[in-house]
Amino acid sequence: MKIDIVSIFPDYFAPLELSLIGRSHAAGLIDVRLHDLRDWTHDLHRTVDDTPYGGGPGMVMRPEPWGEALDHLLAGMDDSTVPGAPASPRLIVPSPAGVPFSQSLAAELAAESRLLFACGRYEGIDQRVLEHYAARTRVTEVSLGDYVLFGGEVAVLVMLEAVIRLVPGVLGNADSLAEESHADGLLEAPMYTKPARWRELATPDVLRSGDHGRIAQWRREQSLLRTAQRRPDLLARQGPSTLTKQDIAF
Ligand code: SAM
Repeated sequence: MKIDIVSIFPDYFAPLELSLIGRSHAAGLIDVRLHDLRDWTHDLHRTVDDTPYGGGPGMVMRPEPWGEALDHLLAGMDDSTVPGAPASPRLIVPSPAGVPFSQSLAAELAAESRLLFACGRYEGIDQRVLEHYAARTRVTEVSLGDYVLFGGEVAVLVMLEAVIRLVPGVLGNADSLAEESHADGLLEAPMYTKPARWRELATPDVLRSGDHGRIAQWRREQSLLRTAQRRPDLLARQGPSTLTKQDIAF
């Protein structure tokens, strides 16, 4: 998977060299390229922002550097000659006004071969940039949640953490993905490790019973219980086809 990120703070992405993401990068499973938006400015001060039309506080990112950056990067991303490749790369723009980020969107993005992220700052990017590229490629504005960050960089880091771990080959044991929170719409059961007793607290006996059937049943019940207690909205979204008779009886 090829990933391009445009930002006025490319240094924000230093953590991508750490941990499993760094190893996946080194192993060639993902190819992340950082670009400084200011490289597409032409004035002495490398200006990327200006005052908003209509007045108001703050600054807005000017369309010209974004236009030059995205034209350049999208021109180098045309996969239309590769059989089976999607018609156009996917441009992701973090925005508090975007569609909520979720595990299912992460899985959708993990199946793409090319992703391009455009990190806004200040009061955001001139709206015409989004309109212009929506007519040329697949553009998705994505929100991390109902709050406002200083810029899109941290949002992109979060999205990449969620997306990259779903890319085949990145996680040593892909089975762990199937049982995780949100994979099946539920929260995962609580997890324990050694020692069996820590301070006054013991791990549940069933987990040390060696009875895989009982363990699986216990985990499923805990998963349902946790979801009902902490995120009843998720449980309400489970259709009759995803809940077993045993689940409903529980
Ligand atoms: N004026 C904008 C508004 O009220 O919608 C907020 C701009 S915010 C200060 C600057 C940039 O941070 C945005 O362009 C976006 O890239 C990023 N950002 C802020 N909050 C975000 C969120 N909840 N999800 C994703 N990106 C966010």
